[in-house]
Amino acid sequence: MRVFSNPVGAGSLWFDNLATAGGTPVAYDPQARAFVPMPPFCANREIIGCNWIAPEEGAFCRSCAMTALAPDTSIANAIPNWAQTEAAKRWVLDNLGRWHWFRPEDPGSRPVFHMLAEGPTPVPMGHVEGVVTISVAEMDPVLRTTRREALQEPYRTMIGHMRHEISHMLWWRLSLRDDFLDAFRAEFGDERIDYRASLEYYFQNGAPADWKQYYLTRYASAHPHEDWAETAAHLLHLTDITDSFVATGLSSPQIPYAGWDPYSEPDSDRLIRIAATLIVGVNHVNRSMGLSDLYPFVLSDHARHKLAFVHDWLRRGAQGL
Ligand SMILES: [Zn+2]
Ligand SMILES: [Zn+2]
Repeated sequence: MRVFSNPVGAGSLWFDNLATAGGTPVAYDPQARAFVPMPPFCANREIIGCNWIAPEEGAFCRSCAMTALAPDTSIANAIPNWAQTEAAKRWVLDNLGRWHWFRPEDPGSRPVFHMLAEGPTPVPMGHVEGVVTISVAEMDPVLRTTRREALQEPYRTMIGHMRHEISHMLWWRLSLRDDFLDAFRAEFGDERIDYRASLEYYFQNGAPADWKQYYLTRYASAHPHEDWAETAAHLLHLTDITDSFVATGLSSPQIPYAGWDPYSEPDSDRLIRIAATLIVGVNHVNRSMGLSDLYPFVLSDHARHKLAFVHDWLRRGAQGL
């Protein structure tokens, strides 16, 4: 994620800011990718702290307009959890916009979000034909940690959920092209194998012993659809980590030149190679605070090949190039 300039004075603004350090209210214009100091602000600004601009007074911003179902606010913590969920969604959508996804220049359909709070029954997240269902309860740190440990995951965040579920939607968008499916099946396998049976088998038997050689995560081994969603989510993680690294002025011998934009890099292998090197460094930085690794995954040769495939399609897919 980039770092933004303050439209009314000195200093920088971060993507989630609602005001400058001096207290002037500001909003993010996702089309201009810049902060502005004047309304119209998103209609959700007061209730969930959305900091994007709206097309007109009283309207939702581009991101909130994609939320067709908001959580049942009678459920405890629904609003603060929803607020943080929408913040993760804005982050992920803005990143995808760097490759033109879901912006005005993208002729395809947008995702529709169902943001659900959880009562006693867990809400399964998922994607069906353009509709992404997200459980806002996953913002609860205890619930999220409990599920992460039960599923033997080294990493579980709302940004991760957003990237995974939106990646299913991106697959669906790409599958409408006539040149994608054969290429996808050659790389990831045939997604027409029974999804439900594959998932049942996975949850009973777990991943194959050698999964690390072929997949980024255990869950990716469950079915080609899940391998795509996990791999695409990781490509988005890696690109965003690299973008944030350079945006804050950090340097590394791996960075090609000052002002290099990871989202404009056409060479998939080069981008992944640079990201892989930065991760080793940033993981080490995290350890100096006793934190877990920023990116606790191993990039096998197979995984890198699949990441490069995803990068190639995400870069050109939105505009039908
Ligand atoms: Zn909004
Ligand atoms: Zn999935």
